[in-house]
Amino acid sequence: MPDSTPNPVDAVDTPTPRRKPKPETKTIGGRALKPSTLMMGHGYDPALSEGSLKAPIFLTSTFAFENSAAGKRHFEGITGKRPGGADGLVYSRFNGPNQEILEDRLAIWDGAEDALSFSSGMTAITVMMLAYCNQGDVIVHSGPLYAATEGFVAKALSKFGITYVDFAAGATREELDAVLTQAKAQAEAQGGKVAMVYLESPANPTNALVDIEAVRAARDSILDASATPIAIDNTFLGPLWSRPLDHGADIVVYSLTKYVGGHSDLVAGSIAGAKSWMDPVRALRNTMGGIADPNTAWMLLRSLETVELRMQRAGENAAKVCAFLKDHPKVDGLGYLGFIDDPRQQDIFDRHCSGAGSTFSLFVKGGEAEAFRFLDAMKIAKLAVSLGGTETLASCPAAMTHLSVPDERKAQLGITPNLVRISIGIEDPDDLIADFDQALAAV
Ligand SMILES: *Cc1c(COP(=O)(O)O)cnc(C)c1O
Repeated sequence: MPDSTPNPVDAVDTPTPRRKPKPETKTIGGRALKPSTLMMGHGYDPALSEGSLKAPIFLTSTFAFENSAAGKRHFEGITGKRPGGADGLVYSRFNGPNQEILEDRLAIWDGAEDALSFSSGMTAITVMMLAYCNQGDVIVHSGPLYAATEGFVAKALSKFGITYVDFAAGATREELDAVLTQAKAQAEAQGGKVAMVYLESPANPTNALVDIEAVRAARDSILDASATPIAIDNTFLGPLWSRPLDHGADIVVYSLTKYVGGHSDLVAGSIAGAKSWMDPVRALRNTMGGIADPNTAWMLLRSLETVELRMQRAGENAAKVCAFLKDHPKVDGLGYLGFIDDPRQQDIFDRHCSGAGSTFSLFVKGGEAEAFRFLDAMKIAKLAVSLGGTETLASCPAAMTHLSVPDERKAQLGITPNLVRISIGIEDPDDLIADFDQALAAV
């Protein structure tokens, strides 16, 4: 009888079971399980990690292949020779268990096919833009944007001959048609295309909302929908109060540093959307690096278990605090999505948002001196930039985040010296109201 043991050199590549258990329980009796339920287990099988209920943190730079053929197969996925990305773990600049579980869970919140994690919100935004832009292309964006994003488009991308056209966040369908037509002509003159329509809603600090459905309709009628994705920074209302993919966006972008991380103790970012929109970004991330590290990914898995609870509480707290502030004699107005006075903005809110969020603008009666007195008198709220954490934060954009913005632009955006930016946390709401009350009394 011939020896039937195969020569190891000739061993056929029989794929080992995937790291992730498939198929997974995402429905029970026809009922689709909610994201808050799936956050406790989706994408992780304890049996593959010694029964550890929680995913361990995988601190390794590289992963051992089952055999050479598997190594080849994995690299075919990494390099794009085989569509759909890697089906195995390879090297920690490309992927890792903590990041893959995180990406699977992030995708659930936005109803996306796929997600990618990054070391910061800005890494997510810049790698995504670079993946979609070629020399001579044009980016169309709403304004204002997060200052670093606006700076990247205007200063860094312009070095490569990539230009931009911007429009005010609240633009109507007619205005959007005109802007996209102008951008298309500009791109043709530069020998490029309109590479991306990039939105941020609500805008910071104006809180103006973008009509995503109108942007989608304008893009579909004027540009090549298969070549020009609509991306939107959903950091302020996501993932709970706004699901932009449902309204026509192709890619949703996050600074996970804010509500998703939620404890002011990490910096990270993500994008999510259809696999076909994610693939070019994943390929560039593989080259440039910028994936979230395993420890941060693990922290985000913990955060995602409570993100709905935290955001609900913060949103309820903000509603109570704003109700108190609304008619206060020392308050000169509120920029809060719960009290919109413009009918068009209210219409966008009703179509796109399920909550008013917990970040808003408070105009203290007076100028910078009064705003500073208010800020310095706060006892519970911390004086810091950022938002979306468990603790209440307050800052003065004109003197801090937007200090370097020219006065004319500040006036245009309504960034007055008496504007205080507030991010409400999950403290006791009556304690917060007491703090606002005594700080306003000090003005
Ligand atoms: C904070 C923030 C960013 C940048 O995110 P980082 O995680 O700080 O890099 C981008 N967009 C918005 C709306 C933000 O608030």
